[in-house]
Amino acid sequence: MQTTVDFKTLAVTGVQALQPYQPGKPIEELERELGITNILKLASNENPLGSSPKAQAALNAALQTLELYPDGSGYQLKAAIAAKFGLNSKQITLGNGSNDVLDIIARAYLDKDCSAVFSEFAFAVYPIAIQAVGAELRMARANSPTHHAMPYGHNLPNIAAKITHNTRVVFIANPNNPTGTWLNTSDLHRFLQTVPTDVIVVIDEAYTEYVQDPEFPNALAWLDEFPNLIVTRTFSKIYGLAGLRVGYAASSPTVADMLNRVRQPFNVNSLALAAAQAALDDDEFLQQSVVTNAAGLQQWFAACAENGWEYMPTVGNFITINMQRPAAPLYEALLREGVIVRPIGGYGLPQHLRITVGTAAQNTRCINALQKVLNA
Ligand SMILES: *Cc1c(COP(=O)(O)O)cnc(C)c1O
Repeated sequence: MQTTVDFKTLAVTGVQALQPYQPGKPIEELERELGITNILKLASNENPLGSSPKAQAALNAALQTLELYPDGSGYQLKAAIAAKFGLNSKQITLGNGSNDVLDIIARAYLDKDCSAVFSEFAFAVYPIAIQAVGAELRMARANSPTHHAMPYGHNLPNIAAKITHNTRVVFIANPNNPTGTWLNTSDLHRFLQTVPTDVIVVIDEAYTEYVQDPEFPNALAWLDEFPNLIVTRTFSKIYGLAGLRVGYAASSPTVADMLNRVRQPFNVNSLALAAAQAALDDDEFLQQSVVTNAAGLQQWFAACAENGWEYMPTVGNFITINMQRPAAPLYEALLREGVIVRPIGGYGLPQHLRITVGTAAQNTRCINALQKVLNA
């Protein structure tokens, strides 16, 4: 059948201009392309220790009832999250990954008459979620590369200055991905005090469990003080459940009520609900993950010092290094060494590579591979 209809121009305006999210390269894809095995993926900030044994046991049990729809309200998981953090279940919105939650926020609070503010170098999902609903993107300049404390980091005065009469949402990642940079308690709290009370501030805390700095904020503690605050968290990072897709938002009950109106009824599947609930309480696994990551960061800091590699400040489970030359060929060369890292040219950082912190052995392999491709 012949057709002259242009289905691109039929798509809603925001979607036509959208650049799809570029995920880390899957291991299987590299296996297919190069016919190699023993591939190390340090590209998507996944947990090198895998996932909690308790979560795996819960998954096995949940496998027995796949014929049943999941609990669409996520009652038990929400109750467990609320209990752990001293919140009310009515404040929680579950998502198919926190990505889903970010999308839900955009759908509930933005349309073509609104704008949303985010920072240069911020997590790429924010502009996608904003643009998909036709809202205006307002990007604030980040700190300069030569900033004394937090190069490339979110700049709160610049973010505040971007808020205008039609701004409904501000997205802040703390720490941010792909930079690793972070905002401290006093600065972020002061920012919240200055934001107009009818502007929603989303603080994305995907990596918060890894952070040990005593100056690092816990935005959940501010929910009572700021009814316009939404905090998002995920089971994809330290909890090691990226493959299952589960995350959540914590907010005022009214905001949660609005988010739940646009949430798909069964957006979190039954396996994800069961595993996340079990993982939430596995303190031993969480502690091991924190310790492994802290040691891994030290290993990377030492390697960077030794090799003269300049890196961005980080408190996450990844490190972003300025290679001082185009990073794409280095990325390709690393692939041929069987190591997948993340080029971030799409963020306007074509000379940087973002590398997930692995186990000691994984870090050593990646460091050696990096030295080899740099000297080739
Ligand atoms: C990885 C990440 C997420 C989590 O995404 P999920 O959809 O929960 O897997 C959210 N925000 C940031 C900044 C991230 O880096």
